Parts: sequence; C-alpha cells; structure tokens
Amino acid sequence: MCPRLARGLEMVCHVVLIETAADGLVLVDTGLGTADLADGGRRLGRMFLGMVGPRLDPAEPAIARVRALGHRPEDVRHIVVTHLDLDHAGGIGDFPWATVHVHARELAAARARASFLERHRYLTAQFAEHATWQEYSDEGDDWHGLRGIRALGGLGDAAMLVPLFGHTRGHSGVAVKNGERWLLHAGDAYFHRRELEVKDGAPAMLRWFQRVVEIDGPARRSNQDRLRELGKGGAPIDIFCAHDRVELERLARAADPS
Ligand SMILES: [Zn+2]
Repeated sequence: MCPRLARGLEMVCHVVLIETAADGLVLVDTGLGTADLADGGRRLGRMFLGMVGPRLDPAEPAIARVRALGHRPEDVRHIVVTHLDLDHAGGIGDFPWATVHVHARELAAARARASFLERHRYLTAQFAEHATWQEYSDEGDDWHGLRGIRALGGLGDAAMLVPLFGHTRGHSGVAVKNGERWLLHAGDAYFHRRELEVKDGAPAMLRWFQRVVEIDGPARRSNQDRLRELGKGGAPIDIFCAHDRVELERLARAADPS
C-alpha cells in the first residue's frame, strides 16, 4: 500500500502462516483477498483506494502466497485475526472452510458498525457470509505483563490472543510460539517500527492516521507504551505490526533459511 499523503512510504499487510503439528495450517490475519482485487478494487471503495493506494497484485493475497509456498489452501484450517478492518479481513472469504478466531468485542463491533468510522472501516461483504467463528472474551492470564487468552480451540497452545484494545474495540495481538521464542503480531497497535523504540516515533502522517481511526485513544497509547516496554525488556519475543515493510522483510528472511 502506498498512502497518497506519505510519498515514498510503502506499507504491507503482514500475514503469518503457521504449520502446526496438530491441525494443518493457521493464518494470522488475512490482508486483502481475491474479491477485493476484482474490478480494480471496487469493493474496497473510493475512499480506501484513494487514501491508501493498495497495489492490487493477484500474486499478493494470502491464498496466492499459500499456493506459492507449495501448500493447499484447503489445509488452512484456522485463521486468527487481530481485528476486522478491511485491510485485515479481506482474505477470510478465500478460506470459507476455516474457523476464524477473533475477540468477541471485535466481531460484535464489526457486525454492529455503530459509528461513522466503523461503517467505513468494516466491510460487511468480507465476513458476513463466513460460517464458522470462534470468539473469545475471557480475561486471559498474565503473559509477559500483558494478558494472553490461551487455548485457541483446535490450536493447542500454538497461538494466543493478546487483547490490545484501542485501534478498534476488540483489537488484539496474536502471539505465536516459535521454538524457544514467541512472535507477537501486534496488528495495528502501532504502525511503524520506530514506535517500538521511541514514543511517537512514527512519521507524522502515520501518527495522524492512527489518531483519526482510533476508537479509544488512551487505551491505544497505553498499549503502545506497554509494547515498547516489552520490546525493550529483553523478553524472548519478536514484536511486529501489520504494516511495516522493514519488519516484514526482516522476519521473512528469518523464517525462510533458504
Ligand atoms: Zn490495518
């Protein structure tokens, strides 16, 4: 994505594919899907196309990447989403057989679309028809100073929801066990890698954008503070957000030893 207001800034939709021993493949977030690319991106709407400038490349949706990695899309049994904004939920429709795991507050918000902002950020067509959902609403247990909701059904302890409300009502990170370490997909809890180093470390346009689309500013800022502390605290966790291209490239290199 190439936001019009930030020349030279290229953003990604960072999706993680997990191979589990227990139950096939798991996707964390889905980015834009094949139906979003049809008709020049018509479903996404003029505002999104104009502001965000997505590159509608048929090689980019998660289902195309799953195939390119030599997997069968049918083997994606589970999808865990950080939230249901249109740049995160678009790929759900490419995996209609999968169980989608989501925080209950987020699914309720996406279905209700109660405010002007939510009528624009949630695209009902991306998820309304999806059959199988698993919602989470408990408090979770302490996980490195955050809350972690364990035992995502069918996933064993391979992935956990980590509530990080603020960007949306039920926005959550997703923690994935990675050998002795953890990956934490922080979704849109922050937008730029420098925000993990210094408060308000993002370019001005991204700081502005995060404020414009937040549902709960104080919660969002305090969660960003907690992620920064976690990142600096030396815990065995690799934190990344949904849209930072440099983070994606660094982690993609680490995940693929070839
Ligand atoms: Zn996003």
